[in-house]
Parts: sequence; structure tokens; C-alpha cells
Amino acid sequence: MSTPAKPLVPVDLHCHSRVSDGTLPPEEVVQRAAERGCRLLALTDHDDVRGLPAARLAASQYPDLRLLAGVEISVTWREKHTLHILGLDVDDTHPDLVAGLVQVRSGRAERAERIAAALHKVGVEGALEGAQKFVTNPELVSRTHFARFIIERGLARDMQAVFKKYLAKGKPGYVAHQWATLPDAVSWIKAAGGVAVLAHPGRYDFGKAAMRDLLHEFIDLGGEGIEVVSPSHAGAEVAAYGRLANEFGLLASAGSDFHTPEESWRAIGLQPELPLGCTPVWSRWLS
Ligand code: AMP
Ligand code: MN
Ligand code: MN
Ligand code: MN
Repeated sequence: MSTPAKPLVPVDLHCHSRVSDGTLPPEEVVQRAAERGCRLLALTDHDDVRGLPAARLAASQYPDLRLLAGVEISVTWREKHTLHILGLDVDDTHPDLVAGLVQVRSGRAERAERIAAALHKVGVEGALEGAQKFVTNPELVSRTHFARFIIERGLARDMQAVFKKYLAKGKPGYVAHQWATLPDAVSWIKAAGGVAVLAHPGRYDFGKAAMRDLLHEFIDLGGEGIEVVSPSHAGAEVAAYGRLANEFGLLASAGSDFHTPEESWRAIGLQPELPLGCTPVWSRWLS
């Protein structure tokens, strides 16, 4: 006998369009979420907010869907750890945020050349040109685009396999890079009136003590939330980050981290429930 599936919450506060490393235009991301019954959606492209005007226009066609302007900012913490900080309900025209994102994006082209050079050393030739064919925003070349090229070349089976073999930290195609500082990223989000949320904490490669240090630092800077429900989290991690959210008095967030219908990310628009006792970050936008 199967137990009935838990209800899903019609909220998705983390997804990508072709303005970063997703494959759908912002309007199709919105349409897809709306058609699945999503009532609150944040488009959170990496380091860029320029998908929002098109997303907003599309959202105006769906009276039951509220769209939040969002962003996922790349951060370097303690010199060597990459973190992602989500900004939710930002003013995407705010000059501090816009200028900050220009600065974060500006390093990506040169980083892409270094990634290609590193891949060349292990026999993956033509990676820069190859990745460029998948790039949909010239200011946003991402490891995802290299990954799509490597799969096309037949050198790995799927996204997980490419990262494991070539692109994750410690693998031959990984290069160190300095992104925004944590204080800068949080301050841009706050200046723009948004809520700062630590994305997919389960993805970071530091231990529990450093995670606690990070949360103290994040909260001191004005960070308010932590992503608890994410496809990067197994069930036990959802529970563990739910407890951490409660212990630190952080609001809990949930998102699909949707990039494309083809790759193995969770479908957009509806999320599993938060663990018991968590305060949803979305209460203020969705009653
Ligand atoms: P970048 O900002 O260029 O470093 O690229 C980071 C992106 O790569 C993430 O936002 C994900 O879309 C993707 N990514 C990172 N790690 C993995 C992984 N293990 N499997 C699949 N995609 C990944
Ligand atoms: Mn991505
Ligand atoms: Mn991320
Ligand atoms: Mn993401």
C-alpha cells in the first residue's frame, strides 16, 4: 500500500532563464510555472536581473500568479568558498544592485578562457568556442554552458557526470575565481529592498562549524533566510536545514532551481512542504 503523496506548495523562489544558464526565455519560465499552478514565483538568474521585464510582462497574463523580482548572486566567502545568495523581491532597477551585478559578471569572460585552457590540458579541445554555442547571454558564460558542450562531445553522460569528472571543485576544468564579497552581495540586495536568502546550503563543501559561522555572519549583515527545500537537498538535509533555520531564526525558502526541462532538475512551480515549525519566507507575499 502506498502512502499518499504530501501536498505541494504552489511556490517557487529559485529558477533560471536563458538570461543566465537556463534554456527557456523568461516568459516561458513564467508560463510553465503558471500552467503548473504556481502562485508565487521568483525568477532568480545568476548575477543578472535583465530577464525580469519580460518575465513581468508574461506574469501579467496570469492573475493567480505573483512574480517576484529575484537574483542569485555568486559570492566568494573566506577566500575560497563559492556561495550563492538569493535576493528576493528586489527593485531590479536599483543602481547599487545593477552596478554590483555588472561588477560580478565582468569576471566571467576571462574565467571562461581559464576554464577552456584548463580543459585543453586534459585533452578537451575547443571548449571556449564549444561552450559559446550554448551561451545565451554574452555576459554570462557559466560552467553549465561548458557542461552542455562536454556532453555534446560525448565526454560525459549528463550534467552530474560532467561536473563530477571535469567541472566541480578539485576537478581538472575547475578554476578559482573571485566573485562578490558576502557583505557586498547582501548590501546590494538590501539596498534594493530585497530579502537575502542563503541558497542550497547543502551544496557547500565546508563543515558544520563553518556553516554556523557563515550563518552568524550572514545574519549580522542582514541576511534573513535560508533555502531549506531544494533539489540539492536529500530528505535528511531538508530536515537538518529546517532545524538550522529555526535555531537561527531564519525564514525558510523553497525553490526548484529549475534550469531547463531536459536536464535533471526538479520541475518548476510547486515545491514539497517545509519541515514542521519553519517560518516560510513567502508569508509576506502570499497569504
Ligand atoms: P558558475 O556560476 O559558472 O560557476 O556555474 C554554476 C552552475 O553550474 C550552477 O548554477 C548550476 O547550474 C551548475 N552546477 C554546479 N554544480 C553542478 C552539479 N554538480 N550538477 C549539475 N549542475 C551543476
Ligand atoms: Mn545555474
Ligand atoms: Mn546556485
Ligand atoms: Mn540556481
